[in-house]
Amino acid sequence: MRTLEEVARTARECRLCELAETRSQVVFGAGAERAELMLVGEAPGRREDATGIPFVGQAGMLLDKALALVGLRRDEIYIANVLKCRPPKNRDPLKEEIEACRPYLDEQIAIVGPRVLAPMGNFALCLFSPKRRSISEAHGKMFSYRGIAVIPIYHPAAILYNRTLEPDLIEDFREIVRFLRSGRKAEPEPDQLSLF
Ligand code: URA
Repeated sequence: MRTLEEVARTARECRLCELAETRSQVVFGAGAERAELMLVGEAPGRREDATGIPFVGQAGMLLDKALALVGLRRDEIYIANVLKCRPPKNRDPLKEEIEACRPYLDEQIAIVGPRVLAPMGNFALCLFSPKRRSISEAHGKMFSYRGIAVIPIYHPAAILYNRTLEPDLIEDFREIVRFLRSGRKAEPEPDQLSLF
């Protein structure tokens, strides 16, 4: 298996989609090489594109606040995005961009080896959930993806637009921490249940 730095080196040269033309730099991901919790956002924004670090803008400040409230530190988790490059004017990711970028995320997940994956918002949720549920319905409800517990949470940017969602985000983070501390394993996926 490659190291995160080796994968990042490949990603920094990536020209698999048109975002390579407009990005300032690739925002690969940040945090611990092995981590129990991996957060997956949508795509870098302006500040991330300028710094190369995920979640350093306004949404990042809100994320930091939520992490601090539940006693988590950035350096003990791993943070990545569905897309590694900023879409122009922060438009939604396109299907072909998501598909082109996905192998990087799959490799990050394999290396980091999280016990919990927390997709933030609808675009990240879609990667792990075959059902077309929205984040407002799915947040805080655990399911399994390749033996990893997935606990979807609201995207911090959504909270910036609608502050009434903030308690849900904090409660979902608390649920993540409870799960991690409990030592519980991901529940089998429905198609695995039929094996028992
Ligand atoms: N929003 C995201 O989805 N990712 C970032 O890195 C920053 C803002």
